[in-house]
Amino acid sequence: MTARRAEIAANLERLETRIAAACAAAGRSRDEITLVAVTKTFPADDVMHLAALGVREVGENRDQDAAAKARACRDAGVPGLVWHFVGQLQRNKAASVASYADVVHSVDSERLLAALDRGAVRAGRTLEVLLQVSLDGDPGRGGVLAPDLAALARATVGCEALVLRGLMAVAPLGWDPRQAFDEVVALGAGLRRDHPTATWVSAGMSGDLEAAVAAGATHLRVGGAVLGSRPPLG
Ligand SMILES: *Cc1c(COP(=O)(O)O)cnc(C)c1O
Repeated sequence: MTARRAEIAANLERLETRIAAACAAAGRSRDEITLVAVTKTFPADDVMHLAALGVREVGENRDQDAAAKARACRDAGVPGLVWHFVGQLQRNKAASVASYADVVHSVDSERLLAALDRGAVRAGRTLEVLLQVSLDGDPGRGGVLAPDLAALARATVGCEALVLRGLMAVAPLGWDPRQAFDEVVALGAGLRRDHPTATWVSAGMSGDLEAAVAAGATHLRVGGAVLGSRPPLG
């Protein structure tokens, strides 16, 4: 095993211990939770190490980097990867993202939805989408406000090539993450009454995953705790 693969394996082992403890404390089963390893800023080789270690759900937040990594992994014949797009997405990148992503966590407008749908139709693919909720209305981080969620959900189920899977959120700065994730899980339960496929709640990162597990999240998006500290973005 290379040194890098061993490092990632050790990180994963520590992370799994945290997730197991959080599940035990919440009376939940580990298999209710999907770990998405956020590989942004890390090379395609790290995605291949993760796949070799059994982690095949990976998250990216920039189209250009993600497209290149998805291509490199495909060319290398890495089987079974599931690509999650977790970052703010501009409409002019939607067609590209629709060509390789399996899940988009950050849908927050009807215009973005329409662009993703067109891209997916053109690529002959189906995308699973999560609506990103903004709990504090900070426009810098994206997300739709709770009162606008129902209309965006209706627009999603009207799309040809998109499947509504649920909600995603980031805990707003300065908030108690548990309170933030409780709100998202409650919004998710409301959404599911009208849209039975919307069973996922993507919440929790390296610093607050315990709160997300306690609140009932189904998907954790974890970067640093798996791959180490990221170089600062330029
Ligand atoms: C980077 C990122 C993560 C992972 O964050 P870590 O703190 O490294 O675990 C999760 N979600 C989104 C939307 C991100 O951009």
